[in-house]
Amino acid sequence: CSGGGLLVYSDSNPPKRTLTADGQETKKKKVVVLGSGWGGYSFLSYLNNPNYDVQVVSPRNFFLFTPLLPSVTNGTVEARSIVEPIRGLMRKKGFEYTEAECVKIDASNKKILCRSKDASKDAKEFNMDYDILVVAVGAKPNTFNTPGVEENAHFLKEAEDALKIRQSVINSFERASLPDLTEEERKKILHFVVVGGGPTGVEFSAELHDFLVEDVAKIYPKVQEFTRITLLEAGDHILNMFDKRITAFAEEKFQRDGIDLKTKNMVVGVTADEISTKEIATGKIVSEPYGMVVWSTGIGIRPVIKEFMHQIGQGQRRVLATDEWLRVEGCDSVYALGDTATINQRRVMEDIAAIFSKADKGETGTLNKKEFKSVVKDICQRYPQVELYLKKKKLRNIANLLKSANGDDTKVNIETFKQALSEVDTQMKNLPATAQVASQQGKYLAKCFNKMEKCEKKPEGPLRFRGEGRHRFQPFRYRHFGSFAPLGGEQTAAELPGDWVSIGHSSQWLWYSVYASKLVSWRTRSLVVSDWVRRFIFGRDSSS
Ligand code: FAD
Ligand code: MG
Ligand code: MG
Ligand code: MG
Ligand code: MG
Repeated sequence: CSGGGLLVYSDSNPPKRTLTADGQETKKKKVVVLGSGWGGYSFLSYLNNPNYDVQVVSPRNFFLFTPLLPSVTNGTVEARSIVEPIRGLMRKKGFEYTEAECVKIDASNKKILCRSKDASKDAKEFNMDYDILVVAVGAKPNTFNTPGVEENAHFLKEAEDALKIRQSVINSFERASLPDLTEEERKKILHFVVVGGGPTGVEFSAELHDFLVEDVAKIYPKVQEFTRITLLEAGDHILNMFDKRITAFAEEKFQRDGIDLKTKNMVVGVTADEISTKEIATGKIVSEPYGMVVWSTGIGIRPVIKEFMHQIGQGQRRVLATDEWLRVEGCDSVYALGDTATINQRRVMEDIAAIFSKADKGETGTLNKKEFKSVVKDICQRYPQVELYLKKKKLRNIANLLKSANGDDTKVNIETFKQALSEVDTQMKNLPATAQVASQQGKYLAKCFNKMEKCEKKPEGPLRFRGEGRHRFQPFRYRHFGSFAPLGGEQTAAELPGDWVSIGHSSQWLWYSVYASKLVSWRTRSLVVSDWVRRFIFGRDSSS
């Protein structure tokens, strides 16, 4: 079978059967899960419905704990310690796993085309049919089509990337230590450039700096003076998604550490020897020699998803859109979660008339106190932006909001109702592309799947507006537990819910404990903790 055109049906995975209560044989619904990352692994761990025949397709037969990936680049943590083989979970749950990449989704025929991972000419292609497809393929690094990046820069996304970076750093020091090099040559080899001032770029720069200060100084004392780290960011500040206090602290710390921080500078090209940047204010282009570039400027969409979006009429969009139940818009029985998708949140204002008339039972045209109270809770559940808005205004519920707008909440007409809720939709923000979001979505979706049959039989939702009659599930709601930005030198910035910011050594310990607790198994947890202990006692391993 070839990659293009329609997929040909092949029964390489015959459907599994199960017996119902009256002894009849029925086909189990086949759930195909694409991806074994944060979203996919979390979904699989929480899925407990014996009525599904579950097939996992992923080119990676392990889960990767990405938050510790920057620590692998300098040998603080070993790559082995942060991967969890997926076969163990498969055996425990009775799921099946195929090591392959999905290269095409054919939604109208409910089939996918897969390709095995072997080197190109031995690769096998095969079809797989599904009843339900769960897409959790993540994203790919985004180069913004900057010339030379694919060829010359390192990415930091997969375990192999981190190992390559580690090898490259150590090789640079060995090369720079060779005899008969000029000072210029040594400086070039030991010029490390990090592109992107987001959490990953910042953490990597910090890890690299720690390595230079704590280890290189001892191991390569002769060349240490030639090392330089440059961090390039196109925006005004690094860590701009964090609180301003954290940004300021990080920028000052990097300055003190001697990391050359260049904001408002956009990379326009990377050749084998030089990196060119454009100063945004002046348009001036400068080229500098470098030894190694790490590119970490954000994520882009995978080709297989791009093609799928065209198929289902989402070709105009930048990211695959789902509704709040994580169902892909424009096709049937396909769910998507994690970095590969965004939730298209529903606006309250679009539904306001429906919400009102639904609640309006007795005297028409106004809601009395009782009618109003009964609808308030539902609205908060259905439209998370309402809750956010109320939190911001420091109000407990919509009734208080109405009171503050209206002075009287005993009778509400549609106009006052509209007025009170008019600003709410502006609070809607896309969820960030983080492990926290992907894993909560995986858990949420698994819980929906676990009670799917029950819900299909008794379809009463908390609210039933246009076209939602069949849902008894509440929409997905994200709970933010806070974010960390490790800054090196055993210091971490933490931003926790409720506007709580903490920076320094104490949050480093919080970081150690949170990340240890989030590791998915006791095996990985003990490996990581022993890596940390080993590093404290003996320093980092510097062999490549
Ligand atoms: P992924 O975890 O990337 O999983 C995608 C899976 O799909 C992989 O198994 C992949 O092999 C597989 N796949 C790819 N293509 C195909 C295909 N065609 N067919 C089938 N399978 C496919 N987030 C935080 O919240 N906190 C952090 O501290 C943090 N630190 C990070 C540090 C680094 C260095 C990086 C790179 C990311 C970090 N993130 C962090 C972000 C977090 O890792 C992502 O948001 C998260 O991995 C998204 O989960 P996902 O399931 O969507 O994708
Ligand atoms: Mg995944
Ligand atoms: Mg992952
Ligand atoms: Mg997403
Ligand atoms: Mg009424």
